[in-house]
Amino acid sequence: MDELELLIDLHKDAERQGPGSDEMTLQALEMACLGRDKPLHIADIGCGTGASTRVLAQVLNAQITAIDFLQPFLDVLERKAKEAGVAQAISPLCVSMDDLPFAPETLDVIWSEGAIYNLGFEKGIREWRSYLKPNGVLVASEISWLTSTRPTEIEQHWQGAYPEIDTVSAKLAQLEANGYSPLGYFVLPESCWLEHYYRPMMERFAGLLDAHEHSAAAVALVEAEKQEIALYEKYKAYYGYGMYIARKVAAP
Ligand code: SAH
Repeated sequence: MDELELLIDLHKDAERQGPGSDEMTLQALEMACLGRDKPLHIADIGCGTGASTRVLAQVLNAQITAIDFLQPFLDVLERKAKEAGVAQAISPLCVSMDDLPFAPETLDVIWSEGAIYNLGFEKGIREWRSYLKPNGVLVASEISWLTSTRPTEIEQHWQGAYPEIDTVSAKLAQLEANGYSPLGYFVLPESCWLEHYYRPMMERFAGLLDAHEHSAAAVALVEAEKQEIALYEKYKAYYGYGMYIARKVAAP
């Protein structure tokens, strides 16, 4: 049983695979000011089991390509999309986010919740920009420092786990420097981490350990998640997920 299979087992039955909520997806949509007159072509990149994909399909006039590199997540997404009656608006696609099959300037919207860090925020916004039509919109959530300074323990943790973590103002400046005009930013409330992500995950730990007969790898995964949750509880004033909404503008 490799690490990836364990991660799939831990996350595939979750509503979300990262912090977020339907309400915050809707709030970002509001700030994106998308028209409803003509159908939009949207890519939801790193969609997981599709919580945001379904919200977009429900409220927009859109055709959504739902992208993830884990087929088991896309299988769940397809089932849930059918149950929600929105399957016809969603095309699942199992590819890596660093090798997308879109032609230049063909997407109206790129949506990505809790996933762009897999590529790195700056690389992601640069590479994905080419797929957006002129004036197309990018919506991405990204872990960000919420204060200009922070305690050493949490600084060191995130420098190790994701060195690209930076302040909100630095992320906005990166967007501006890479051919985007920020339309809005907000920070996901704590409930997006605790109620919608970490607490449901904690309820799955015992089942995961049983299913894997307390293997060393399963125990290590659960311990790592517990440590991440404890750090969040302790230091949540200093970091969070920023939701960044930006429009593609002419290249700088
Ligand atoms: N957007 C979802 C899932 C966030 S978790 C939500 O908010 O619930 C991050 C997702 O990115 C996972 O589903 C993971 O499988 C996917 N992912 C990670 N690396 C990827 C890559 N290189 N290409 C495509 N998807 C990737």
